[in-house]
Amino acid sequence: MQILSLPFFISPSLSLSLSHLSPSVHRAFKINELKTEVTNRLAMLEKRVELEGMKVVEIEKCHNDIKKLREEMASRNNSNFLEDNKKLTPRRDVPSYPKYHLSKETVEALRLPTFDAWQWEPNEMLSCLEHMYHDLGLVKDFNINPITLKRWLLCIHDNYRNNPFHNFRHCFCVTQMMYSMICLCSLQEKFTQLDILILMTAAVCHDLDHPGFNNTYQINARTELAVRYNDISPLENHHCAVAFQIFSQPDCNIFSNFDPEAFKQIRQGTITLILATDMARHGEILDSFKQKVDNFDYADEEHITCLKMVLIKCCDISNEVRPMEVAEPWVDCLLEEYFMQSDREKAEGLPVAPFMDREKVTKPTAQIGFIKFVLIPMFETVLKLFPQIEEAMVQPLRESRDRYEELKQIDDAMNEVQKKKSENLTMGGKKK
Ligand SMILES: [Zn+2]
Repeated sequence: MQILSLPFFISPSLSLSLSHLSPSVHRAFKINELKTEVTNRLAMLEKRVELEGMKVVEIEKCHNDIKKLREEMASRNNSNFLEDNKKLTPRRDVPSYPKYHLSKETVEALRLPTFDAWQWEPNEMLSCLEHMYHDLGLVKDFNINPITLKRWLLCIHDNYRNNPFHNFRHCFCVTQMMYSMICLCSLQEKFTQLDILILMTAAVCHDLDHPGFNNTYQINARTELAVRYNDISPLENHHCAVAFQIFSQPDCNIFSNFDPEAFKQIRQGTITLILATDMARHGEILDSFKQKVDNFDYADEEHITCLKMVLIKCCDISNEVRPMEVAEPWVDCLLEEYFMQSDREKAEGLPVAPFMDREKVTKPTAQIGFIKFVLIPMFETVLKLFPQIEEAMVQPLRESRDRYEELKQIDDAMNEVQKKKSENLTMGGKKK
């Protein structure tokens, strides 16, 4: 607050009118006049101080109001999903990962389904993703700002959570499998570059901000997401919404150079593909593809969309296509995430799916059914269009199925022995 000084003065007219009086009376009069003048002046100043004080109070009030508003906004944003909007803004500025230079060997390996994602740290995976966009000609053909591409990828990384399974490494694996399928099946000869951009971008974004608990949990626990999306693919809708919240930030919008029509197409295409990753729709999507595959028409937009949906589904659940050393740790990660969910479901009195129950599931039992009834039938349907995948993708799936069946036989035999042992012990006990 400003400190007020007291200006002390007598007006010229007053001094003139007093000049003819005797010096003593003059002085007394003058003093009285001065007193009045000072009193008035003080009163005025006091009034001003009071007004200023009120202004200060008003300012203080404003401060408090702003503080309150801020707190209110923060508390609203604290609800699970909005809080993460903070993450939507990239933490770091122009990223500094060019030091992660990819060797010729890495660049070659990246094109194959055998690529081992466990070997790389997040920054290296970011460099790999960046390389894929350049290598496929997407940066050049769509005039994507290379710095925006880096910032977008960093922002993507920051918006995956550290779940045991649904994390940034899973995002990377799915995208890398998409990239290797594009290379292996020469998809650039069949699809437009816009389709390739949609396939890659949907893969990158497909599990954004996954909370680590599946749709069944969301719906049964009546979570915020389930309520928001009316129980219809709550997670996939959320992944999609987060993806486009990121694109709404100019710093991260790799499509900023697109005309509105092209953006509309990329948005529609990406949404369709991300929503297709809901496994609840597996039968419906695969059936639709099976109906088209024997007379597949690359000129038919509906056929193309259906194929793209099946491709992202293949990549999403493609771990078992990879070499055993790469694939197997993912089963542990998935079971860890499942067990976390089933433990929580038990604690909250919600239904528990047997395939998530740590009391009921083992690695082989978890994998055999999935490989036999989900993976192989889907990849064998894709094989009809792309015979190239037989050796690189379908054969490894069959080998993995056989390996897990052997493991199950060993497990069963061990259990049998265990059972007999405990039976003998019980009988021994009875004899005594
Ligand atoms: Zn996924």
